[in-house]
Amino acid sequence: MPKPWTRLLTRLALSLAAGALIGLLYDAPALGALVVALFWLGLQLLNLYRLERWLVTGRIVEIPADEGLWGTVFSKIQFIKAKAKRRGKRFRRLIQELRASTEAFPDGGIILNAAHEILNYNNAARLLLGLKGRRDRGQRIENLLRHPDFIAYLNSPAERPFVEIPSPQAGDTWLLCRLIPYGPGQTLLLIRDVTQRVKIEKVRRDFVANASHELRSPLTVLMGYLDALAEDERLPDNWRQPVGTMQDQALRMRRLIEDLLTLSKLESGQPVSRDRVVDVPALLAAARKEALSLPGHPVRIEVDVRSPGNLLGEETELQSVVSNLVSNAVRYTPADGEVHVTWAVDDEGGHLAVRDTGIGIAEEDIPRVTERFYRADSGRARQRGGTGLGLAIVKHALRRHDADLEIRSRVGEGSTFTCHFPPDRLALNS
Ligand code: ADP
Repeated sequence: MPKPWTRLLTRLALSLAAGALIGLLYDAPALGALVVALFWLGLQLLNLYRLERWLVTGRIVEIPADEGLWGTVFSKIQFIKAKAKRRGKRFRRLIQELRASTEAFPDGGIILNAAHEILNYNNAARLLLGLKGRRDRGQRIENLLRHPDFIAYLNSPAERPFVEIPSPQAGDTWLLCRLIPYGPGQTLLLIRDVTQRVKIEKVRRDFVANASHELRSPLTVLMGYLDALAEDERLPDNWRQPVGTMQDQALRMRRLIEDLLTLSKLESGQPVSRDRVVDVPALLAAARKEALSLPGHPVRIEVDVRSPGNLLGEETELQSVVSNLVSNAVRYTPADGEVHVTWAVDDEGGHLAVRDTGIGIAEEDIPRVTERFYRADSGRARQRGGTGLGLAIVKHALRRHDADLEIRSRVGEGSTFTCHFPPDRLALNS
């Protein structure tokens, strides 16, 4: 038995015995014991009262001085309370530190619940979105960030890693928004001011567009004189070949300028509307005709329209996608090879594939061939008359049509470039 209990029971037994002895002097031992028992009971009730008051009000009345059971109970509770107080203090300090560090964070952080309501936010979020404490807590984030790109991202965050939108506060500020789900139904919305980067990108785009535009006029003059020279019968024979080379190079330069202009238009433009229907079989037939006019083209260039259905978008851009993919397939496939162009529609959308049996692309080059001026085999690619911008144009034009480019290739066996269009880009009844 624990020590306080033995001490209590011993004391009780001794007190009862003493009470009975004193009672014996008056010939009433039972009465003596009863008086002692009542005294003990009163003592226990008093301590019980003190304990109840302490626990209910939090204020201690008086700690029993004895080292018995009640003393042990009171000092144990006092110890637990002191420990809880120390822990509470440490916890509050930790929360304060955590809050101070999130307040110092340069990016905005907003905690959203499953209904997209704002639960909490830091100082940067307050400044970036102009949030106000009482007014905006509990508010749905869609009411503050109404940009359609953000709403689409909020509704299906798995489809892209982030969105960049103009700030609802000031028109020339750009915000990068990233949703990070954590805990049950909770999401952290990170917001970063990317105005500087967006401005630099715009300056670069504008510079490339302006420089290309300015180069076009002098080049047209040069090409005009070169054509006149080439046609002039008085041109000495030893000048024919250099003039021919100059014509080829000038043509190449013009193609480069045209591609740069196309690319800068695609980069800066808004997403393509779904108002116009683009006739896919006609687009493929035109690309085939164009491919057959290229020098040294493979003998077999086949177009296979497996399902009916057209696309919703911009015809010139989709034409540029097909023409770049088909001309690449022709340029990187020997004359005895084959090029197959197929169009098929299924539940997942429309799929336009250009397959060739040409030289193929090494595995490590595949992720990089859509970068501007990246060439898997630069000497060979330049020889084949490419500008190095074809696949970058394809990638940007597809992105404007919400489509993806899938590249499969094996060196020496050939390549397949497939454009996957989502179902809402299809015009099935036209
Ligand atoms: P280029 O004008 O040099 O062809 P692109 O942007 O069209 O530029 O293509 C980038 C690079 O990708 C090419 O230089 C080439 O190395 C590779 N490539 C593109 N299409 C094919 C293909 N069908 N077969 C093999 N390599 C290809």
